[in-house]
Amino acid sequence: MSPLHVIVIGAGTGGMCLAHGLRRAGISVAVYERDRTRADGVHGYRVGIDPTGNQALRECLPPELFDTYTATCARTPAHFNVLTERRRTIASFRLPESTDPVHSERSVSRMTLRQVLLTGMDDVVRFGKTFTHYEHGADGTVTAFFDDGTSATGDLLVAADGTGSRVRRQYLPHAKVRDTGVIAVSAKVAVTPETRALLPEEVFNGISATFAPKGQFCIWHVVEFKWDRDGEVKHGVGGNDAELIARWPGLLYDNTRDYINWGFSASARRFPPGVMDLRGEDLKRVVLDMTPNWHPDLRALFRAADPGSCFPIAIRTSEPVDPWETTNVTLLGDAVHTMTPGRGVGANTALRDAMLLTRRLITVRDGAPLLDAVAAYEEEMIPYGFARVADSLAQNGTNGDDLLHRPVVGRAVLAANRTFFRAVGRVPALRRRFVDALVAYRAADA
Ligand SMILES: Cc1cc2nc3c(=O)[nH]c(=O)nc-3n(C[C@H](O)[C@H](O)[C@H](O)COP(=O)(O)OP(=O)(O)OC[C@H]3O[C@@H](n4cnc5c(N)ncnc54)[C@H](O)[C@@H]3O)c2cc1C
Repeated sequence: MSPLHVIVIGAGTGGMCLAHGLRRAGISVAVYERDRTRADGVHGYRVGIDPTGNQALRECLPPELFDTYTATCARTPAHFNVLTERRRTIASFRLPESTDPVHSERSVSRMTLRQVLLTGMDDVVRFGKTFTHYEHGADGTVTAFFDDGTSATGDLLVAADGTGSRVRRQYLPHAKVRDTGVIAVSAKVAVTPETRALLPEEVFNGISATFAPKGQFCIWHVVEFKWDRDGEVKHGVGGNDAELIARWPGLLYDNTRDYINWGFSASARRFPPGVMDLRGEDLKRVVLDMTPNWHPDLRALFRAADPGSCFPIAIRTSEPVDPWETTNVTLLGDAVHTMTPGRGVGANTALRDAMLLTRRLITVRDGAPLLDAVAAYEEEMIPYGFARVADSLAQNGTNGDDLLHRPVVGRAVLAANRTFFRAVGRVPALRRRFVDALVAYRAADA
């Protein structure tokens, strides 16, 4: 082990990818996480990992764990569909099939990804540690303090503690994270013969986006695992995948039921007051009350949602932060560049940060000065991180100021949007270009 010791706050997607990368490189690392297990919020939901995220995971994870990650991904969507609220298909795009572990889109349940990332890291992750603040030592070290009265000292402190980052609040108090004025409600519906029959085949086998009047939007994903509720590998999953799944301890968690995931969103102004405090049946009722003209089968899926899985999310974004003077505190992922789910790249960008920071810290292991390495990381991360923040805000009405949310203009924008997708769906050259752009490196620079 090199003398460099890195303290990471937060065992989320980015923090754990970094921890794996550093450990693989022989750099001492410890991760401090407040929660042992989380099933609330988005933790039980799908996350789409793109080639940038796959590349980061391949570079940072031990090879067998990377194989377990690819083996435990859910079925990959075969289509991208654009629907009306009456469930009419405006356009349906066949997505290219790819089994390449890196150059492909992966669909993974967050809980599964978290379990994969925690696999074999018992000696690195300390649970029940809620970070409160840090102090710089006179000897150039940095000490993190936790709410149980303990502390940890290292050479570098990395904030991987997500959108509400306490490290960021202390380190960059001027950095702004704000609500976009859009609220989403998300829930899961168990896949049964009855619920499956409510979606056309290409919607069930794909990712679908419903654009509706009043700036309403709904995303539909179906997560089908390769194992059943008893943790048995399903028929048809063979070879290495079956073997890796059978050996992997993560299957013991509640992650074994295939589900349809819907995420309905609209301007916060359209929701009743106090919606952020509602859960379960009350929240489902809000969505049903807001969608009286939606197709009965889509409403049946709103109604069929497991009430325990239904929760509201105030969509948040961040403002670009001017470069700051580098010290031995740095940040990655949502802790520095929170973005809306508009492009589905927040986790991918956190993984990209983790890969980049690992590479830079390897130079420190090999003799480079720590602050030069951190400065090089920040110089690269800040521009692409905030570029993704901007791209994400511009997508799918996740910005409350978007014209889609305006009373009259919104209808015209919706009509234009539908005309655009109809045209793209019908002209083969445009279809190809659209699909190429959709599956291009989403989290990478264009
Ligand atoms: C509805 C929705 C859908 C999304 N879909 C996608 C998608 O398809 N693809 C994609 O790439 N991104 C998606 N994202 C974004 C993605 O979820 C985040 O960008 C990603 O999880 C950020 O990872 P992170 O490691 O920075 O933070 P997190 O994964 O949030 O991890 C932060 C960790 O820090 C811990 N923590 C927080 N505070 C403390 C403290 N004080 N002390 C100790 N520990 C602490 C937390 O418990 C947590 O484990 C979506 C987001 C939303 C809201």
